[in-house]
Amino acid sequence: MTAPYYRDTWVEVDLDAIESNVKNMRTYLPKNTQLMAVVKANGYGHGAVEVAETALGTGADWLAVAFLDEAIELRLAGIEAPILVLGRVRPEDVPIAARYHISLTVYQTEWLEQAMNFYQKNDPVFLHVKLDTGMGRLGIRDEESLSRFVRKLKEDSRFVLEGAYTHFATADEEDESYFEEQYKRFQTALSWLKSDGVNPNIIHCGNSAASLKHPEKMFNLVRFGISMYGLSPSPSMKHKLPFQLKEAFSLYSRLTHVKKVEPDEAISYGATYRTAGYEWIGTAGIGYADGWHRRLQEQHNQVIVNGERCPVIGRICMDQLMCRLKSEVPAGTKITLIGTDKNECITIDEIAEQLGTINYEIPCMINERVPRIYL
Ligand code: PLP
Repeated sequence: MTAPYYRDTWVEVDLDAIESNVKNMRTYLPKNTQLMAVVKANGYGHGAVEVAETALGTGADWLAVAFLDEAIELRLAGIEAPILVLGRVRPEDVPIAARYHISLTVYQTEWLEQAMNFYQKNDPVFLHVKLDTGMGRLGIRDEESLSRFVRKLKEDSRFVLEGAYTHFATADEEDESYFEEQYKRFQTALSWLKSDGVNPNIIHCGNSAASLKHPEKMFNLVRFGISMYGLSPSPSMKHKLPFQLKEAFSLYSRLTHVKKVEPDEAISYGATYRTAGYEWIGTAGIGYADGWHRRLQEQHNQVIVNGERCPVIGRICMDQLMCRLKSEVPAGTKITLIGTDKNECITIDEIAEQLGTINYEIPCMINERVPRIYL
């Protein structure tokens, strides 16, 4: 449920699009491969609870988040599905994680030692060991460290190794040599685990890119993030996707003021824009404090008004921006910053390109000041 809001700027999240992306992925994956919906960072800015419920209702088996706080938010919303925290959880917080039945990522023997001391109950604590095969972020990197970790684990039967996983650094790139190298290292690390007498039930390595390219190599679970939201993991994969992805995120505002401005008049801070002749200027109530980056204006950002693209002009302010209209329109007219209006469409990828970043960052940067409406 969305809290009441009183401003004319909003995000629309098309949950049918998310449903379609999850359904298509489910069908595409081998039958025994489970699907973990990655809903960290408030569901990549789409709304963690709403996306999680939609994904679970469409065949997702698991959820993944970055922090324990994000997992607890899902539990407090009544979600009972298994949840894995991908990031580090402090050992002193293990009792909270266990109370909420949340699975944790582990990769340090010292962490296990501390967690065993902090945890006073007898209920099981479920763990997934992270193996660093070349991402260089989190994970055990060598056989000796893994053996030490396993020896410690075997000292306390309350700590149950439910899963083992790794993460690829280049799965979205055309050149697959580093992906293949990481894949081989993962297989080797799994064989170390086996020779230490440990066989976790769940083995996973694939993000969206790896899962879309190599569904048959994904062991028995994939971590499906960016493409669940309808976005391609990289520009190079965009035209090689095995099924059509549907974008779920649109961003709208309304014109709060429309005026005809005389020639050679300045618009916005710094007076950097001057009207060339008489111009219709629209003001909208969205700015950089909503996450609509100030640099967008320098990158010739546009909005769609009545199916036509209009340039954003002058500097983007904290709560407002101005655009040059084709003609007079009434105040209150809807403008599209991301999404489709008649025959025009501004995609997340277009905004990412203007900002010199990846599509992942765009829905995340539209912050909680902007209400999310669910379709
Ligand atoms: N697994 C891990 C460990 C991640 O950090 C992420 C996202 O950053 C994902 C899976 C999901 O990746 P993607 O959004 O590319 O599908």
